[in-house]
Amino acid sequence: MPFQSPRGTQDILPEEQPYWTHVHRRIEHITQLYGYERLGVPMFEDTAIFARGIGAGTDIVDKEMYSFEDRGGDSLTLRPEFTAGIVRAYIEHGMHTRPQPVRLYDTGSCFRYERPQAGRYREHHQLSLEALGEIDPAVDLEIMTMTWALYDDLGFGDLAFQINSIGCPKCRPAYIDRLVAYYREHEAAICEDCQRRLVSNPMRLLDCKSDQCQPIADAAPHTTDYLCDECREHFADLRRYLDLLQRPYTLNHRLARGLDYYTKTVFEVWAAGIGAQASVCGGGRYDVLAELLGGPPTPGVGVGIGIERIILTLKAQGIAVPQPPRPVAAVVYRGDAAKAVALRLLSDLRAAGVPVTTTYGARSFKSQMKQADKAGAAYALLIGDDEAAAGTVTLRDLVAGEQETVPLGDVVERLKRAPVEQVEEDEPKLGWLAEGRTA
Ligand SMILES: [Zn+2]
Ligand SMILES: [Zn+2]
Repeated sequence: MPFQSPRGTQDILPEEQPYWTHVHRRIEHITQLYGYERLGVPMFEDTAIFARGIGAGTDIVDKEMYSFEDRGGDSLTLRPEFTAGIVRAYIEHGMHTRPQPVRLYDTGSCFRYERPQAGRYREHHQLSLEALGEIDPAVDLEIMTMTWALYDDLGFGDLAFQINSIGCPKCRPAYIDRLVAYYREHEAAICEDCQRRLVSNPMRLLDCKSDQCQPIADAAPHTTDYLCDECREHFADLRRYLDLLQRPYTLNHRLARGLDYYTKTVFEVWAAGIGAQASVCGGGRYDVLAELLGGPPTPGVGVGIGIERIILTLKAQGIAVPQPPRPVAAVVYRGDAAKAVALRLLSDLRAAGVPVTTTYGARSFKSQMKQADKAGAAYALLIGDDEAAAGTVTLRDLVAGEQETVPLGDVVERLKRAPVEQVEEDEPKLGWLAEGRTA
């Protein structure tokens, strides 16, 4: 049995890369627009960072973490998400002395031992946007509108927010008491997972997906009826700001996002995806996370955005992405003398910044021309015995089908002037669509 990539992981093949490049370019564009700076955090952290931050009783910590003891006996965990590591870095580097909020982002692999299914991987990729050090609900608005802007920029349709406020350590205990009491009344009717959640993590009861629990969760008490004055005001301000910018949102009482560190605002962005409108990402405020990690009280709000999900949706919606530039020319040769000329010419062209390709080995002219065509080269530079002897090259325009004899010494200059396809950083996506490009 030959080796395969580990279950739940995928190789991202060259033909898939234009999607990844495109998404990362759009991320760079939007983060610059909003003034977010990249903070590169390690791919693994002390296990305690996630155990304390995300919290025991969550699926992530209880079932999904890739934890291991290293050779020095330290317990480490491959990051299941970015937020806890970013907050750890904020505390460690004393970023509270910088102008607040500190606006940060990172992208990369996250690891969760989940049951692999379509669009869900054990190694998946995320963009994490985080704003730390400011409690003003306008920061929540900023993170939310920035997330919206990214999806909008990528061409996603039918965007809408789902929002809720899940309170703070002051007001949530009373809500949880009420929620537990309510579920106790329905204990016989709820699924096994919910019977466990009732003890270990009652907030997770609200987002149970099992059919039998839907009517019970729908009729459960609302967090928003239990908010303290501060939380209520914060949520009212956020909704006022959303109205101000005319962003549609739905108040979703069942939105809880099940991680211990969330406080006040939780939100999801819904978009027309593969079929019906569905959640494409989620985030929220986490004002207690820094303290859970042993740091000073530090408000924060952020969002985690799955890259695989974006790419699946781009494909499902038929959104074209820019393709990498093709080689300007392919060098095609036959015979030892011609090969020596070809190798020098390839080297000179690349040194002059002209993208070229070729084949090696003793392939027929015909098969080399086929490969030149496949590579999408604009020109073929043909070198046979005659050309090698005469110090010339036959320059064939593969689009027009014309050819001419060019002195070897003129080839580099000729091709440097040839129009090269450029992928521009900020080319509007419609430009590419208009050209009828498909990936
Ligand atoms: Zn509160
Ligand atoms: Zn359930």
